[in-house]
Formats: sequence, structure tokens, C-alpha cells
Amino acid sequence: MTHPTLVVIDPVTAGSRRPIAQRLRRHDPTVPVVRVDDAGITRGDGVFESLPVVHGHPHALDVHLARLQRSAAQLDLPELDLTAVDAAVWYAIELHEDSELLVKIVVTRGVDHNPTAWVHACAAPDYTSQQREGVRAVTLDRGYRADVARTSPWLLAGAKTLSYAIHTAALREAGRRGADEVIFVSTDGFVLEGPTSSVIARFGPVCATPATDQGILAGTTQITAREVFASHGYDTVERPIPRDTLDRCDGLWLVSSGRKAVPVVELDGRPLPVDRDLTDVLLRGLTDATHAASPLAVGSG
Ligand code: PLP
Repeated sequence: MTHPTLVVIDPVTAGSRRPIAQRLRRHDPTVPVVRVDDAGITRGDGVFESLPVVHGHPHALDVHLARLQRSAAQLDLPELDLTAVDAAVWYAIELHEDSELLVKIVVTRGVDHNPTAWVHACAAPDYTSQQREGVRAVTLDRGYRADVARTSPWLLAGAKTLSYAIHTAALREAGRRGADEVIFVSTDGFVLEGPTSSVIARFGPVCATPATDQGILAGTTQITAREVFASHGYDTVERPIPRDTLDRCDGLWLVSSGRKAVPVVELDGRPLPVDRDLTDVLLRGLTDATHAASPLAVGSG
């Protein structure tokens, strides 16, 4: 196993006059880069992105960068220089020897309003057994309505923030209930997302994902997954999904950049239908998409 690579971006904010090459610094990943009073550490105040890389091609880098900028804006962080972040991603990939990577981009509020930013690339974890065996999930109440993003924007619903303590607490609760995964549900009864994944449900010829205006992260993988389903003749829709309709679904998946797609084999203790062939189609489609570089990535490489 090769070592992770780390590239620090300083400064990461838009408007810097320094050439990008002088703002990227290769760093030893075993040596600390973050101060103990950094707001990312003391408050979980910052944003991040995770994206897969196969044979040097980052998947949907432009979509991830756009979402990073949107998350930063939701947190009132300064505008980010995405060209510098893009260059740092390519640098971190170039420094790594492995062909399948998981790249993480992190931007914190930093110290004295000077954001801290880095790109970390490590060998992609192996999720084959979850992809094959599936996961048992429980639904957990997230504690707010599906319209939370509109009514209470200060809750930062839909931003990819560094504050994932609630997400990991929910996964521990799933473990206590004898499950592996969580599907969050709004107080008004709609399916939202997993702690680190988007949800896709098949109802006959229709593959549905919860609408992304419901205070959930606009997942990048679900976009590609819907394209894969559409290319195999399914209608794909983004719409509110009432929790009770999941009991009648013909297939349920959690999708995300790292794990791609895992089938949910049991929900709240009840077995769900599992379509192995369609899961294979989905996994192949998501893997093939990762092989193709995104347009921005090609242009800036
Ligand atoms: N929803 C949440 C809360 C997530 O953390 C993630 C990914 O980590 C996703 C959805 C899926 O997003 P993506 O497909 O872009 O990885």
C-alpha cells in the first residue's frame, strides 16, 4: 500500500495575486498542517469534498468543485479560487502511485478568517463486499421537515460541512439496532439521504431519488446513477418519496463517490427485493463513468 499524498493550498481564496504554482505546497501527510485553534478543528467549521479517481481521471471534478463553492457560500466562507483547488487535485493525483484513489478536498474557516485548505489523496478503500452483500438499513428521524433548507438556512442543510459527528452518531445508532446503515427521514415523513450517501429507489419502471431541494446534499453519484438507469430504459425522477412507499419498492440503493452503489437488503428489519443484475449494471456504469475525465478536468490538467 502506497502512502497518501497531501498538497496544501495557501491561500485558497479568490483574488490572490500569487501564481498558483507558488500557492501549492507538497506536504508530508504524517506531519501536522492544521493549528489546534483552527476553526475546522475547534468547531467543525468548514467544507469538504470526496471524489474517486481511476487511472488518473477524477470523476466529475467540475461538479465537485462547484458543490464545494456552493457549500462554502452557504457557510459565508470567502469565495474560493477553484482553479487553484483544481490544480491541487491534479498535483495530488500526479504524486500518488496507485491507480484507484479517493481524493479529499478540505477547506476550513482557519484561523483569524484565513481559511486552511488541502487536498489529500489515498488508495481507494475496497467496498466490494458491501457492494456484493448489500447493507441492512434503518430509517432514523432527522428531526426537521423536508423544507428545512428554505425555512432555516442557518442549519446548513445540504451543505457538505466538516461537522459529521451527527452522521457518525446515526451510524452507531444503526449498529445498536442491528443494522449497518441509516436512511434519514424528515419529520413530515419523506425519505432524505444516508449519512454519507444518496438514496435511489426503484418502483417498477421508475427509478426515483429524493428531490435535492429537501435539505439534502446534491449527490454527484446519483446524477450518474440516474443516467445509467435511463440508458437501460428506466424512467428517472427526482421527487419527494414518502417513507411508507419504500415498503413497496422493487430495489433500493445507497450511492456515493466512495462506495459507488450498495443495495439495501433489509429496511427496518423487513427484507427488501434485491436485483443483483441491475446492481451490477449500476456498478459497471458508475465505474465506467469514473474512467472518463470531466470536461473541466481535461482542460485544466
Ligand atoms: N449525502 C451525504 C450526506 C453525503 O455525505 C454524501 C457523500 O459523502 C452523499 C449524499 C453522496 O454524495 P456524492 O455522490 O457526491 O458522493
